[in-house]
Amino acid sequence: MILAVTMNPSVDISYQLSDFQLNDVNRCDEISKTAGGKGLNVARVVKLMQGNVLATGIIGGTLGNFITQELTKSKIPHDFSKTEKESRNCIALLHAGQQTEILEAGPTLTEAEGEAFLNKFTELLEKVKLVTVSGSLPKGLSASFYQQMLDIANKKGVPIVMDCSGSTLETVLQNQAKPLLIKPNLTELSQLEGQLFSEKDYTQLKAILQQERYQGIDWIVVSLGKDGAFVKYKEQFYQVKIPKIDVVNPVGSGDATVAGLAVALAENKSVEDTLKTAMTAGILNTLENKTGWIDLAYFDDYYKKIKVENY
Ligand code: ADP
Repeated sequence: MILAVTMNPSVDISYQLSDFQLNDVNRCDEISKTAGGKGLNVARVVKLMQGNVLATGIIGGTLGNFITQELTKSKIPHDFSKTEKESRNCIALLHAGQQTEILEAGPTLTEAEGEAFLNKFTELLEKVKLVTVSGSLPKGLSASFYQQMLDIANKKGVPIVMDCSGSTLETVLQNQAKPLLIKPNLTELSQLEGQLFSEKDYTQLKAILQQERYQGIDWIVVSLGKDGAFVKYKEQFYQVKIPKIDVVNPVGSGDATVAGLAVALAENKSVEDTLKTAMTAGILNTLENKTGWIDLAYFDDYYKKIKVENY
């Protein structure tokens, strides 16, 4: 089973407006409300790939209840740690091909609430083969929180696929216990390195990933949107080429990619099959309106078109 962690889940609300008027009343009858957050996207795509998944993290209040109800409706098993505080809403206003987002920060948690989650996490590790950790930490938890999770999982011998960015990723890289995999996109890698990369300059990417700070992490998957991915697996480098896609909505493709990686790794697939599975999941997500969603019926069509080449 795969444990999908979302520390700051949300109710994702999208309002489809024919026209958005600032400083005026905007009425809306096309509304969608779903359980959101990167880790829940991962959980959903693992489920859609017929993988065995358990969703966890910290939730609270009526919005927390809504999140668990939605997961139950989607037949995604869940076991969250609870807080007295209310989980957050993330609102997207869709208007004339544009998207305006309002993202609540979410609850500020106490150290004790963090500890309670770590206890639950330790228990859940007993029944899972692999963990995915996605997204940002809630306010109140220190940047080293993911390091603590890595240490606990490492002691239990359970690998972690870590999809975070900024200072959290920075601390993860400094930790003694390493994740099995990280999946920065090009922006996240540029942020981390403090320099801009071109998605086409694989020689530069290779040099960056050979640096000391990336040692000890088996898999580094740099996802490159329409250009596929550049990957380091142990001491080997790969360029993953994908077909041209008529994209409907790319939001959540990175999460779908993480889901594909987790499913393939949990099944001990080869390097080539793991990368093809991951890219296919990412591509399938771009073909859907919904975020963190794939239609498995098209899996084989796209899988066949992906090329993994040594670099
Ligand atoms: P993130 O969502 O984390 O920024 P990416 O944008 O790199 O991640 O997308 C992850 C994967 O999804 C890509 O490696 C690719 O397989 C697929 N993907 C994303 N955008 C596109 C696109 N425009 N065309 C084709 N595939 C895409």
